[in-house]
Amino acid sequence: MIIPIRCMSCGKPVAQFWEDFCEKKKTTDVKKVLDSFKLDRACCRTALMGNVDLIDIAARFKKA
Ligand SMILES: [Zn+2]
Repeated sequence: MIIPIRCMSCGKPVAQFWEDFCEKKKTTDVKKVLDSFKLDRACCRTALMGNVDLIDIAARFKKA
């Protein structure tokens, strides 16, 4: 849906990387992008890799 501000497991802030991550993953290997953010733990890496930005789609079904 929307990127969580902090990693759900360890609590490290990850949301500030989201826009950079979306831009850089188009041209660079995802592993190198995550390494450049110094996200070492698998839980934080998963938070970025597993997120799908669905907020615009979900917003269409909002109650009026
Ligand atoms: Zn984490």
